[in-house]
Amino acid sequence: MKEYSYEDIEEATKGFVLDRLIGKGSHGCVYKGTLKGGKHVAVKKPLEKLQEVEQDSKLDHEIDILASLHSKHLVNLLGVTHNKHKLLVMEFMPNGSLHDLLHSSSSSSPSWSRRLIIALQIAQAVLSLHEAAPAIIHRDIKAANILFDRHWNARLADFSLAVRDNTLLTLEPTMPAGTLGYLDPMYTTPEKLSPKNDVFSFGVVLLEILSSRRVMDVASHPASIVAWAVPLIRAQREVEVIDGRRKLPSYMEGVIKHLLCISERCVSSKEERRPEMAEVAAELQGLASKLWCPIWACHRLNSFFYPWRRWKNRKVSTTKIVCKDHLLDENGEDEDDSDDTY
Ligand code: ATP
Repeated sequence: MKEYSYEDIEEATKGFVLDRLIGKGSHGCVYKGTLKGGKHVAVKKPLEKLQEVEQDSKLDHEIDILASLHSKHLVNLLGVTHNKHKLLVMEFMPNGSLHDLLHSSSSSSPSWSRRLIIALQIAQAVLSLHEAAPAIIHRDIKAANILFDRHWNARLADFSLAVRDNTLLTLEPTMPAGTLGYLDPMYTTPEKLSPKNDVFSFGVVLLEILSSRRVMDVASHPASIVAWAVPLIRAQREVEVIDGRRKLPSYMEGVIKHLLCISERCVSSKEERRPEMAEVAAELQGLASKLWCPIWACHRLNSFFYPWRRWKNRKVSTTKIVCKDHLLDENGEDEDDSDDTY
């Protein structure tokens, strides 16, 4: 982990000016910084209203967790400043959050294959935490904490509530915490802390990805996405759950049903019914590779029978793989959904 000087970071954020402010969380403000070489970073500055001791211990905790992790599925810590004030310097995510993508009126609704890829990347991110020794429990998995990097890969952010699974150790108990709507209702006391709390929140995010419905919608009855979606999934009325703004192509019907089944198990009130994150990630990986298989087969057959075409294509700068049924670009985004059928 790199040690930056406070002055360099102050300069990178132009003295923490307002137009460098990306957003405010409950623990601090995040600014966009540009380092001397031109690299963009995100800088977390603790809220000034917090007492210095409280600020320091919260930040130290986040640094401690982040310093032990590094994965392409996480928003990684690049370094810290210690002189003057403590700041966190993180990888900069330029493409907003999953919450913006799903709920902002200016974003177009994502294609079904893209939703699957996003769900898979989040599952892999959570798995990377649960596979640490001891496991790390994020406790705040939500659409606002899933950010997109410059290649539009989903990355898990905000480790301010993350804790090591200390249920087997005799450490000071951690009080339950999280965000309403995503928080496991079974996590009511410190002893109930478990990786399954994250599995529940992941299930809520998966429902949100598939339906584009807000997790708490006070204008609807029931307000909670879980109470609304689970009975519909169990009654096999999946079509009422999924985002109606996007046509569901026939080749995706089975995949989406499978995803809804996974989410229904993840949000089960019985912890033992909830799958482990490894199982979820493997199932999503299986669904994604099934989807990619015909595309790759088509691509490879094409290259095998028409080497001259490969030669011709070599001169054309393209990252798109063409298939008879549908087109996917490098981000798994459907390029043409015009012939999709229900
Ligand atoms: P809370 O911590 O209360 O749950 P939050 O998740 O919004 O709220 P932060 O994680 O502090 O709080 O983030 C504040 C804002 O900064 C959010 O809008 C978030 O999307 C953005 N942000 C956080 N980290 C980065 C990053 N690495 N790159 C780009 N934007 C970021």
